Amino acid sequence: MFAGDSFTVHFPTVLMLSVLVMGSAAALMSFFGANQRVYRGYGWWVAAMWLAAAGGALQWLRPVWPGAVVGANLLVLAWPVLVVTGLRRFYNRDRLPASVAVDLLTLSLCYLPWLAAWASPAFQLGRSITFATALLALHSYAAWFIARLEDFGGSRTLKALALVMIAQALVPLLAAAQPLITGAIAVPGHTLLTPWVVLSTMVAMLFTVHLCLVLTHERTERDLRETQRQLRILADIDMLTQVPNRRHFEELAGAAIGGAAARAVLMLFDIDHFKRINDSLGHALGDEALRLVARCTRETLRTHDVLGRVGGDEFMLLLPGTNVDEALLVADRVTTRIDEEHRSGRIPLHLSLSFGVVDVTAGETLESAQHRADLALYEAKRQGRRRAVQAHQRNGNTVFAESRPLGLEPL
Ligand code: GH3
Ligand code: MG
Repeated sequence: MFAGDSFTVHFPTVLMLSVLVMGSAAALMSFFGANQRVYRGYGWWVAAMWLAAAGGALQWLRPVWPGAVVGANLLVLAWPVLVVTGLRRFYNRDRLPASVAVDLLTLSLCYLPWLAAWASPAFQLGRSITFATALLALHSYAAWFIARLEDFGGSRTLKALALVMIAQALVPLLAAAQPLITGAIAVPGHTLLTPWVVLSTMVAMLFTVHLCLVLTHERTERDLRETQRQLRILADIDMLTQVPNRRHFEELAGAAIGGAAARAVLMLFDIDHFKRINDSLGHALGDEALRLVARCTRETLRTHDVLGRVGGDEFMLLLPGTNVDEALLVADRVTTRIDEEHRSGRIPLHLSLSFGVVDVTAGETLESAQHRADLALYEAKRQGRRRAVQAHQRNGNTVFAESRPLGLEPL
């Protein structure tokens, strides 16, 4: 709007348009919140948006009710603190940079000088200065709060939100500098800052609406990824022993022996007379025994060894880059560890294991190696249990090597 050769703003029109935009943005945010998954803090953001729109509407009443400006300005000043309150709730599990008391203290320290200045009508400049200072301080506080959040370093959204707050903090400085630049106060009849504050609040609010929706969306995505991860664990891991189940073991072992330098030993092992343990001591102690075997085995392994529970009391172990002698040492170490647990009195039952051991030959499938390991385990049971038997292929036949007793000598 031009009057002669000087640029002026028709403030009521600007105000009306801003109130319409802010009200629509707040309504969209409310609509989103009512229909989509949102998190703690979202309600505060919606409140911040509605109150900012209400602040604009109160400004509009000013010509007929001058006192409305008090409410309008207090709402505009509360806006950054309401956004911070939403963030406080949104990140409620994190360590936060300041307490609610600090928010309230900062807000009061900004409100009181402006209210005092407003109570002395003769001091028009005082009102503008205290209001501009309050805007600067509160938006700077919000930017500081956002920058100190734990997620700040890795979140472009939080960085953008901090920038919005910094830009808002700079508005009163720019507005105050305007008369120095143009040599005149551009909007006669109103306080120095009002049109600038209304327009910039509207822009900041639109950005903030967008960023709050992005934060909400990012959290939904993160929760979804976490749920998928947990579902994968449920599908892959045996819940009793916390080792891979048969399907996942076969996936991992298949990948490990499929590699170019595929030299590996496969061991199938099983608790001796486990049915008796269940029958005499109860199923709960039987479960405890399974957990113990899994734990003692896991603690004996290297990181790239693969362990799985493949049946009731049957486990399978793939040791990549290992020969049979080394694998037999591993079997002995596992058994000895279980014996030591018993002798130290940590477990009330005596467990022993039998092992079927095979060298996975180059190009052999996991299925074929598993079959030979099964035969070897059967042979170990037949020879009296608590031992390891190796099975290898000779002229198309399975041949068993001499068995090796395992664990500590009986007392
Ligand atoms: P062997 O020395 O020949 O292996 O004899 P065994 O008694 O151990 O016989 P087998 O290995 O066939 O027995 C497996 C038993 O494991 C049968 C079943 O009751 C029990 N079992 C299977 N799953 C579970 C489980 O999750 N918890 C408990 N406590 N027992 C289980
Ligand atoms: Mg058994």
